[in-house]
Amino acid sequence: MERFSTGNDIDRNKAMVEQLQRYGIFNSKKVAETMEKVDRALFVPDRTPAYVDSPMAIGYNVTISAPHMHAMCLQLLEKNLQPGMHALDIGSGTGYLTACFALMVGPEGRAVGVEHIPELVTSSIRNIEKSDAAWLLKQGSLSISVGDGRQGWPEFAPYDAIHVGAAAREIPQPLIDQLKPGGRMVIPVGNVFQDLKVVDKNLDGSLSIRTETSVRYVPLTSRDAQLRGS
Ligand code: SAH
Repeated sequence: MERFSTGNDIDRNKAMVEQLQRYGIFNSKKVAETMEKVDRALFVPDRTPAYVDSPMAIGYNVTISAPHMHAMCLQLLEKNLQPGMHALDIGSGTGYLTACFALMVGPEGRAVGVEHIPELVTSSIRNIEKSDAAWLLKQGSLSISVGDGRQGWPEFAPYDAIHVGAAAREIPQPLIDQLKPGGRMVIPVGNVFQDLKVVDKNLDGSLSIRTETSVRYVPLTSRDAQLRGS
């Protein structure tokens, strides 16, 4: 019988991270170290297989992203997640990636999650409290708030790194405005067919945008539209 994780299976979490590296999904040591510290089983609903490389339903018509997408986004943002830097995670969902960001930017940095479903904000904070990033939540460098992520989170702007975990029709202007010169945003853009875009803000304020790969994310939308499932 398939054994479901109880949330303290850090060895299986490590095996998952090693497998993602073997498959060539990522090669950053720092990203591996971070993902090894944050046990995915703490972030998925009970009786959901935690270490399978696939998105999993978390309620409210949304999913936790697959481990390979988390790894890819962490690696794309690694240079902008150095100690002391500011990171914004839009559509923070389970809080998994926000917790990884917080560990990477450390206590002198800032990791800010924004999520529009209040129940997910509450459960993500509970998840993080059980994780290796709990001390950063307590200490205040990690926070998750209820809000419409299309507006960003001006309080701690500008950000070195912005991650958007839901697909936008267009890149929201407030997110561009809140990106620091030298900063990088990773955002899925599109409707049915989506591209994961890497947006670099140059030091003169201009943008360089490239497509990393094709992806399938849930939409960045209003709370009502999401709950209606439209
Ligand atoms: N990255 C997260 C969640 C991905 S699912 C994880 O892996 O756990 C995308 C999340 O974006 C969902 O939790 C959804 O509720 C949220 N979302 C969608 N539109 C949003 C908006 N306008 N503002 C804030 N959050 C939004």
